[in-house]
Amino acid sequence: MQAFTLSQPTLIYDALAIANADNTKYIAGGTDLMQLLKDNIEAPVQLVDLEHIGLSHVRVDASGLRLEAMARMSDVAAHPDVRTQWPVIAQALEASASPQVRNMGTIGGNLLQRTRCGYFRDTGFACNKREPGSGCPAIAGENRMLAILGGSDHCIATHASDLAVALTALDALVELQRAGGAQRQVPIREFYRHPGETPHIETVLQPGELIAAVVIPASEAARNSHYLKVRDRASFEFALVSAAVAMEARGGNVVDVRVAAGGVGTRPWRLPEVEAALRGKPLTDDALREASARAGEGARPASQNAFKQVLLRRTVLRALQTASA
Ligand code: SF4
Repeated sequence: MQAFTLSQPTLIYDALAIANADNTKYIAGGTDLMQLLKDNIEAPVQLVDLEHIGLSHVRVDASGLRLEAMARMSDVAAHPDVRTQWPVIAQALEASASPQVRNMGTIGGNLLQRTRCGYFRDTGFACNKREPGSGCPAIAGENRMLAILGGSDHCIATHASDLAVALTALDALVELQRAGGAQRQVPIREFYRHPGETPHIETVLQPGELIAAVVIPASEAARNSHYLKVRDRASFEFALVSAAVAMEARGGNVVDVRVAAGGVGTRPWRLPEVEAALRGKPLTDDALREASARAGEGARPASQNAFKQVLLRRTVLRALQTASA
């Protein structure tokens, strides 16, 4: 691990000012970053610890839910209003990592965790995401866990966050803050970038900018939402495929439906083809089956992960059936 200095500001404005320096990173719960530091995958010269700046509230009002970036995953998952009005968020968090990691991990940190691609995590291999221009051994190598949607000739790594999939289905806004007090809100569907030729640039965050909060609108669909994660072992594993569904039906017809998937895309993946096939239709099991059969249109599997196409359709169907039951 490379030596670094540690700053521990107590005000967000001080944190933003310090983080304006070159080769500086924020650290929140540290559950991912500490491992990346130990493995020399990240090597900042300065860390800005966000532990003491506050930003850990969960606020609910008539317009929706506001999760501040330093709120702990376990606290958000246990919040009674989150569990009843946005159950897909609580379910996605409880499907993430272990209880110990959820007690340390934060909302902002969870959204910014790095990919679990084994080549990225092993400095003995080339990797365009870790070292731009070095190559992508996953495309012709071990790619069972990697993406079938959104990949490029430069990277096919999946995004690992369950929470981000749930927030994508709920049309959340990511609130960002920069030194000098400038704030902006970015729809989560625009927050993560496609890998293209620059897979090392993963989000629209500018240098020194941080996630201050995530804002989720209230809706009837959100109250009627569900997260389903399929993985190799139930206790502690990243998704092979996951689905987040939010749905509202009135008079037996689907009036609002949002569907997103994890484990299949290079970023949390919205499935508009499934939504279009359901919106305005009678809510029947046949309609759910027809719509879920369209999930993942345009997929380009790698050599070892074509099974994800079938698994995605089945996972989406099961999530839709559960949300509509
Ligand atoms: Fe690196 Fe992406 Fe290729 Fe994995 S898929 S080796 S993260 S470039």
